[in-house]
Amino acid sequence: MGAKEGFLQFNRELPDSRNPEERIHDYKEIYKPFDAKKLNQQAARCMDCGVPFCHQGCPLGNIIPEFNDAVYRNDWEEAFYILRSTNNFPEFTGRICPAPCEASCVLGINKDPVAIELIEKSIAEKAYELGLVVPKAPKQRSGKSVAVIGSGPAGLAAADQLNQAGHEVTVFEKDNKAGGLLRYGIPDFKLEKWVIDRRIEVMEQEGVIFTTGTDVGFNIKAENILRNFDAVVLATGAQQPRELKIKGSDLKGVHFAMEFLGKQNQVIGGEIKENPISAKDKHVIVIGGGDTGSDCIGTSNRHGAKSIIQLELLPKPPKQRTVLNPWPEWPMTLKTSSSHEEGAERVFSVLTKEFVGNKNGEVSGLVLVDLEWKEENGRMQFVEVPGSERTVPCDLAFIAIGYTGPAQNGLLEAFGVQKMENSLPKSKEYQSTNKKVFLAGDMRRGQSLVVWAISEGREAAVKVDEFLMGESNLPRKDEGYYEIEEGTLQD
Ligand SMILES: Cc1cc2nc3c(=O)[nH]c(=O)nc-3n(C[C@H](O)[C@H](O)[C@H](O)COP(=O)(O)OP(=O)(O)OC[C@H]3O[C@@H](n4cnc5c(N)ncnc54)[C@H](O)[C@@H]3O)c2cc1C
Ligand code: SF4
Repeated sequence: MGAKEGFLQFNRELPDSRNPEERIHDYKEIYKPFDAKKLNQQAARCMDCGVPFCHQGCPLGNIIPEFNDAVYRNDWEEAFYILRSTNNFPEFTGRICPAPCEASCVLGINKDPVAIELIEKSIAEKAYELGLVVPKAPKQRSGKSVAVIGSGPAGLAAADQLNQAGHEVTVFEKDNKAGGLLRYGIPDFKLEKWVIDRRIEVMEQEGVIFTTGTDVGFNIKAENILRNFDAVVLATGAQQPRELKIKGSDLKGVHFAMEFLGKQNQVIGGEIKENPISAKDKHVIVIGGGDTGSDCIGTSNRHGAKSIIQLELLPKPPKQRTVLNPWPEWPMTLKTSSSHEEGAERVFSVLTKEFVGNKNGEVSGLVLVDLEWKEENGRMQFVEVPGSERTVPCDLAFIAIGYTGPAQNGLLEAFGVQKMENSLPKSKEYQSTNKKVFLAGDMRRGQSLVVWAISEGREAAVKVDEFLMGESNLPRKDEGYYEIEEGTLQD
């Protein structure tokens, strides 16, 4: 373990972020570098619990106490080998994971949890700095080929694992560049895109083929893919946005969040000159209190919006856990993101009634009503507060109320994959109703997180490998701790 009494000596500390007034003028990462001595102290806070709940809390089963200990001893090589054994892309999760591991850290019962995500990011960056992330092509090829459709974190993780298992992997991606929502959804101020480019380069040198700008089902038929590859992994995400079915949602200026965010990332990436949706000098309303909504706030502030209001149907969560939401459950508490710090009014318990337009068919206002939430027959129900109906100015609205599942574009049908009633595809242990086709990530489990997408890609890869070879040596999460062979990644 780290220092015997590190958790008593040191408090949780995180890197400072740049001043909100300064950072809203650019799209660069908001956190400043963290002092090496302080990082060592953060690792020293780990208590190396007998039952490490953090390890259970991480969807990848990251072996957290062990890498904390290695960081405390300044053994970056060991720390990286441990982390790499369960997580293909710690440089992504170390930046944007909501860190369910920290929510279940034992120290969190009566103190602030260990800064696990920060330690993970530091290990990943140190590994690149020390030259530990070197291309490592498999020594032997299996003679089997796999098509991975979609290059988000699920597709990338599946491709990485299957390539390491010796299969010839081709990733098909409809966008211009690989990365999925890492590249075209999550804003640069949360994840700069050189972080993705750096990893894709390593994967290419290891033998993974990336065919971008190729919409499977449109540029290449599914039947050609099925004919030319021994197995297929569909990792095409959950791209069907949930609609807000109220009057006026077809007015000009009412957009799904991703229409705005995706274009902005393309502007920053130099793919297009200008975002066709501008928030400059606009009264912006963001509908949906989650992360995507928060990303719309950060981007609107960078555009120079006149005002920003974020609306949430549910009541304002408490600042601290309640007795009904004890450790180690995910805390249902008020989250304040870096984008919130940059400025936005947040309104809870409110229902959107209708958009109001001007004579040009442009949105000009939004009618709202406050809600009162009550428990009835064990379920939370709301009633509208009489007399609270009002119209707020709105010349740009972003709908960020989630996704219903994979795009309804016939792709699943073309691959012979049956769906369930909720429009998600049917699967058993990642295998679809077409035995040759496997599923991973948001398209299989519904809208989720990057850490889950990586986990799904890894687990699906095991099943593909078993399908192709009869057995698999790829690591799987339910085996618990992975054996770390000395120098495995140095070969
Ligand atoms: C705005 C936003 C912010 C988010 N922020 C966070 C965050 O901070 N932290 C976090 O953990 N999660 C976040 N998420 C969620 C996270 O991004 C997703 O859960 C994750 O990216 C899902 O990975 P995936 O690989 O399953 O799918 P995706 O990342 O959606 O990738 C699917 C890929 O498949 C491609 N594709 C689709 N159809 C085809 C086709 N027919 N042919 C070829 N390619 C195709 C798509 O172009 C895309 O590149 C955010 C999501 C959004 C929308
Ligand atoms: S991937 Fe996320 S949950 Fe897992 S250890 Fe890292 S920050 Fe925690």
